[in-house]
Amino acid sequence: MATCNNCGEVGARVRSRWKGSAQLPDECPHCAPQSFEKFTLPSDKKIWMGYEAHPNEYVQSEDGGFDRKPEYRAEQEAKLALPAADDAEAQARAEQAKRSTRRTEPMTASETLAALGKARVLAQAMESAALEAEREIQQAELDSWVAKASQA
Ligand SMILES: [Zn+2]
Repeated sequence: MATCNNCGEVGARVRSRWKGSAQLPDECPHCAPQSFEKFTLPSDKKIWMGYEAHPNEYVQSEDGGFDRKPEYRAEQEAKLALPAADDAEAQARAEQAKRSTRRTEPMTASETLAALGKARVLAQAMESAALEAEREIQQAELDSWVAKASQA
């Protein structure tokens, strides 16, 4: 924790500022909220513009808008470029692995039986889920019919 020498507020985010060797007044989120990045909760549901969320990374442009500082722009572009290189490398590795381990002979009789067994288990699970759903629909229709009949 630090005390802001500008406004006296105590907090973890006090920024000391210097211009050359001369000390400028401190800044903290209390006295200079515009120069601190915003912390948001997922529940805020607000989408901050880049210059709102990261005011230190933007400069005001001549037309009144905001431009990313060149170093911030370069950093973001580097981040965007990185995963693409990783993806290409991973793809090449996966293709190589597939080529070297790819199976070309057909399944044996026992493998076929094992696969059919698995398929049967899945089919039974799907069938009983469908029957259960059908029963629920019929029950709901019956309930609705009984409710209407008792009102008449
Ligand atoms: Zn302050």
